[in-house]
Amino acid sequence: MKSKKSIVLGERVVNKNSINKGFRFWLAFYAGRFSAFLCRLFRLSGTSLPGVVALKLCPQLLFYLGSAYEKVIAVTGTNGKTTTTNLISYYLQQAGETVVGNGEGANMISGVATALIKDCNLLGTAQSRTVVLEVDEGSVGKILPAVKPDLIVVTNYFRDQLDRYSELDQIITLLRKTIDGLPETELLLNADDPLAVAVGRGRSAVRYYGVKGERDCKEVEENEIREGGFCPDCGELLAYNYYHYGQLGDYRCTKCSFKRPEPDFVALDVDDSDLLHFSLYLQNKNTGEQEPQKGSLDLHSQLRGFYNVYNILAASAAAVIIGIPQQIIEASLPDYSTATGRLEQFIYQGRPCTLALIKNPIGVNEVIKTILPQEGKKAFLIAINDLAGDGKDVSWLWDADFEKLNQSMISKVVCSGRRAAEMAVRLKYAGLVTSKIVIEPGCRESLEVLGLQKVDQYYILASYTSLFNYAKLLRKMGKAVVNDAAQGLPSLS
Ligand SMILES: [Zn+2]
Repeated sequence: MKSKKSIVLGERVVNKNSINKGFRFWLAFYAGRFSAFLCRLFRLSGTSLPGVVALKLCPQLLFYLGSAYEKVIAVTGTNGKTTTTNLISYYLQQAGETVVGNGEGANMISGVATALIKDCNLLGTAQSRTVVLEVDEGSVGKILPAVKPDLIVVTNYFRDQLDRYSELDQIITLLRKTIDGLPETELLLNADDPLAVAVGRGRSAVRYYGVKGERDCKEVEENEIREGGFCPDCGELLAYNYYHYGQLGDYRCTKCSFKRPEPDFVALDVDDSDLLHFSLYLQNKNTGEQEPQKGSLDLHSQLRGFYNVYNILAASAAAVIIGIPQQIIEASLPDYSTATGRLEQFIYQGRPCTLALIKNPIGVNEVIKTILPQEGKKAFLIAINDLAGDGKDVSWLWDADFEKLNQSMISKVVCSGRRAAEMAVRLKYAGLVTSKIVIEPGCRESLEVLGLQKVDQYYILASYTSLFNYAKLLRKMGKAVVNDAAQGLPSLS
């Protein structure tokens, strides 16, 4: 116990041998390792349990483990964390770095602890030099002070899982308080989100990324949700020059000086008609000019959907900040494919089948917006669970724009999961005729019903805890498409 006190918090101790970790650490470490072994033995997922066990025995575990890394990067926010985290890790690997992360979405303290325990060899020595962590918005107060990131990337703040996070304000206040104790940490914030920008107010080491509005004064769609459209300084409703989606756009307060900060990293000429393509400019904020001498990056991605522009932009900006050569970023992005459930592609019953994670209204709206322009007849499967990982309160279903599914090219929507019935009611209120709605709570059974539909495309939208079950079944019954563009298989266009 003495050894804990002897460590000065706030100082990164890279040389792991200089820390006397003490008996409790080693007990916890080996208990964690043993739990991981048992999880493998019994074929359990094991992305959290080893951490739960180890943290019980040594609450300071994460501090000891985190101090072994030369660089620590953390990504937090509501949507886009997993894609952004995975892409930063991918860039680092392409640059020849050894990286550890909690890329499967186990983003609370136990998941982070598990990832770092598994990165160590049996002597407790970390095998990687860098760590890139996806950090749950509600867990920043526990994780960030322990691992002391060099860089924190904030994606956006949307309404999400109300039972766990009662108010967006509280989440932002929690992060602000947490980073007060981390004066060395640099921030990379989404300039287009007034809520993300609020995190960095009064701090010097802040950089911003943003998407330039090509479509000025874009018409705001009727059901678009703008939770954060208020000034974080004075509470006034923000005025916008244009919106991208949600509360993201070019905003300013009409009462005080709060406005969208000039971004350091700007996405320009966005083409989101199919596979994403845009230019990333490094902007000199003093002159407001783009700096071609610093280089602009020509970014081609296999990802789809406008919301992924933000994820690619954030990850690429983070990569530039941590010193990854721009040529590596440009050359490696086209080969990056998506994580489970981020519009992942399968072939099921001979038809293209897209699997997407849904967890909040904004996410649903963006996924639907991306899917609907694709040609052909479609059948949907929407799986909603209400376990802790999904958020027990599913009232957000009523804020999402399921009305958009009410059209002739969608012939069937199979509702599944623990809240299949509620989902069916939601669709009925969205105007879908009842003959199009099927309730089949079982995972395998619902997939079988979907497979009976003679359409051109299948889409599965699943909440978090059902997502991996569908992915597993599809891999077994269907066929995962690693790179549909390269293989010439039916693409989503
Ligand atoms: Zn204001």
